[in-house]
Amino acid sequence: MHRYDLLVKGGLIVLPYHGEIRADLAVSGGKVAAIATEIPAAEAAEVIDATGKIVLPGAVDAHFHIGIYRDMALDAFEETRSSLVGGATTVLTYFRTGQHYLDRTGPYKQIFPEVLDAVAGRCFTDYGFHLAPMTVEQIGEIPQLVEEHGITSYKYYMFYKGFDLAANSRDAQAFTMGDEYDLGHLFLIMEQLAAVQAARPDVRLSLSLHCEQSELMRVFIDRVQRGGAPQNLRAYSEGRPPLTERVAIAEATTLASHTGTNLNLLHLSSADALGAAATARDLYGHVDMRFETTLHHLCLDHDELDARGGLGGKVNPPIRTREHNEALWRGVRDGVVGWVASDHACCMEEHKGDQLWPARPGFGGTALLYPVLVSEGHLRRGIPLTRIAEVASANPAKAYNLWGRKGSLAVGFDADLTVVDPELTRTVTTDLLLSAQDHCPFEGAEVTGWPVATVVGGRIAYRDGEVVGEPAGAYLQRN
Ligand SMILES: [Zn+2]
Repeated sequence: MHRYDLLVKGGLIVLPYHGEIRADLAVSGGKVAAIATEIPAAEAAEVIDATGKIVLPGAVDAHFHIGIYRDMALDAFEETRSSLVGGATTVLTYFRTGQHYLDRTGPYKQIFPEVLDAVAGRCFTDYGFHLAPMTVEQIGEIPQLVEEHGITSYKYYMFYKGFDLAANSRDAQAFTMGDEYDLGHLFLIMEQLAAVQAARPDVRLSLSLHCEQSELMRVFIDRVQRGGAPQNLRAYSEGRPPLTERVAIAEATTLASHTGTNLNLLHLSSADALGAAATARDLYGHVDMRFETTLHHLCLDHDELDARGGLGGKVNPPIRTREHNEALWRGVRDGVVGWVASDHACCMEEHKGDQLWPARPGFGGTALLYPVLVSEGHLRRGIPLTRIAEVASANPAKAYNLWGRKGSLAVGFDADLTVVDPELTRTVTTDLLLSAQDHCPFEGAEVTGWPVATVVGGRIAYRDGEVVGEPAGAYLQRN
């Protein structure tokens, strides 16, 4: 009988907010049981030799879209499998009623149990859901969703009042299948969340916002469509310019300053958006505001993607330019950006097609979470590993009521971790990512610093490029 189930030996352990220590880490009963300079290998049933490797808390990929374009159960299986490649051990995925996903509407008390059933036993990572109240009835369900399902984060999409997801149709109501979806609806969600928060001071109830302003989008998209320039990813960015993000941020934060609702401003794509967010946080010091950006907004440039051709990089908000990439990296470095997520939405090439406006937005990236942060953030830009672990794991865990279980490798936390080889260089191919997606906007990028093992709940789930065993991820009640 061994004292420990698993021993991660000789690695550089990264503890968010604290530092790095060269030590052994022992796991027992799915939890971190001990960290010490020397734990004998004989005390553990299984040993990972982490000599020369970095041991990071498993990433909490806080922005994910299981089932948006494909069968929910299949997507859960194939896309959380991809997460393991990137060192993500928890995904927090968005669900809403309306077009895509299950293509219908109704109360969450009927629909959400179906969603939970569809993904149960299909996830390789632990998983939780953020829900978007699309109807007034669903806003009324929030107290029950908090108590029964532990859902403590909700979402509002600021551009759905004027457009569908692809910005190809202005029949927004056909898309949301809901009531009037506008600032009034947003205000009602905020009021409700603030009221529930007052009754539950022990958790952080938050509203996540997709910040793009639809009336301005209408004007800029019209201009781009009539302008005669190639309808490519540059055109997409010009049709939804950073100004639309700034205005949406100003609108939403003004409302939150009145209701006091906690906010997460999602996938900030531009220097302008990050600046507007930081300004709002200074202005409304009493509102808890946290900011997210994505791997693609940190790393991709629309002109470079257009030079390669194709619409695989269509995403909302759009890919911007190198200048914006660097502004966002500065935000990661200096702490303005709270976390980095993938916004993973498996979208096949056939659904991109060759026409910009009907092309479906979004793509996968969860397999690149730690590789890109380590390669581009740590190795190329000198951002400390502690900060990398904070934006990948600790900060989203705190924002979404997972801290204490997720987000660190302190004794007592879930044994969710990834062992990264800081010298392993690979050129990104779709095959490498273990996702169903048949293209990748990062394809061809040379990335250094890949997970060689990913451990979920104390069990090795991924090792040397291959998945080990069946999906064993658990649903995360976050109340
Ligand atoms: Zn998203």
